[in-house]
Amino acid sequence: MLLILHPNTQESDPAFKKTMTHLQQLSGVTIKQHEVRGQLQSLREIYLLGDTYALDLEEIESLPAVEKVIRISDEYRILGRHKDQQRRSGFHYQGLAFDQDSLNIFAGLCAVDNPKHVEEMLRALKANGLSCTRMGAYKPRTNPYAFQGHGKDCLPWVFDLAGKYDIKVIAMEVTHESHMQEIDRALAEAGRPCGVIMQIGTRNTQNFELLKAIGKQNEYPALLKRGFGITLNESLNAAEYLASEGNSQVIFCLRGMKSEFGAPHRNMVDFAQVPTVKRLTRMPVCIDPSHSVGSRDVAPDGVLELCHATAQGVLAGANMVLVDFHPAPTKALVDGPQALTLNELEPFLKDMEIAKKAYLERVKVWQSAASDD
Ligand code: PEP
Ligand code: MN
Repeated sequence: MLLILHPNTQESDPAFKKTMTHLQQLSGVTIKQHEVRGQLQSLREIYLLGDTYALDLEEIESLPAVEKVIRISDEYRILGRHKDQQRRSGFHYQGLAFDQDSLNIFAGLCAVDNPKHVEEMLRALKANGLSCTRMGAYKPRTNPYAFQGHGKDCLPWVFDLAGKYDIKVIAMEVTHESHMQEIDRALAEAGRPCGVIMQIGTRNTQNFELLKAIGKQNEYPALLKRGFGITLNESLNAAEYLASEGNSQVIFCLRGMKSEFGAPHRNMVDFAQVPTVKRLTRMPVCIDPSHSVGSRDVAPDGVLELCHATAQGVLAGANMVLVDFHPAPTKALVDGPQALTLNELEPFLKDMEIAKKAYLERVKVWQSAASDD
């Protein structure tokens, strides 16, 4: 059972104390508290776990600090929507909203290679009014002899350059909890010129120890990639691991499924599930068209298939796009064949704007049809 308390309830409030005293007397019930921090207000949620079926909903609802009571299923306890369309989604980070209504574009390098390319990339982002990027410093590679990323050595100059070009948030994959500490240290030493979202790659979706480590801290949000060979339910449960440890600032990323049936795409594009994840959970949903489509193939209409796939995700309500760009794709150390060029950034953004507007129009049509019923 989930109890949502009145906004801005503090632990020192008499109403809160009275409520807790009552709850602590319930037998067979464990109490877990959770704080959801928004831009303007914080919401305190209380989870009653265990023997809750016998509890009287009205009695709990009448406790002084309680605004609302929801019976929740066992799955996705914290991140789940539990059939309540009004529950708030997402979080704020570095002054930006990440929720089920926002759309943040994270264009950038799959892998950090050298300062020249990083600077060219960031300069292009700033020129196009963007303030987020992706930058891979730790690369999980199939081949042990392939370039593994510059790791912590590149962090000082990457963060300095981010500050120089007003980049607020970098999505950066971590494959071990020590990487999070390295990033934290480098950010502190650089004077925290930007923020970082800890990206968990598809190969680590069920690395439960990594999930727990990232879930135990609240400083950095997490971007969890869907596992490419497991069910959606298993991947959503992986996201819930992060929240169950205390960090509910989680973005869920669809990035395609490993299947021969997706060929000639690198993975089977799964963006039809954007609305599904939004219905089942309160997480903002990201799409990664680069790792899904995996090529620069152009359709007969002159549009890259990768851009068609991105638009399909945005038309379905995606809240974030993680996309590979590179100033010189043929020189990229990782995933060059799927990188868009800097000349393609402006048309890409225009395309996204059209798709976002069309999405909002579509929603209006269906909402007015529903209200006519
Ligand atoms: C990436 O985003 O660079 C990446 C390796 O993605 P994925 O984990 O989805 O393969
Ligand atoms: Mn890549």
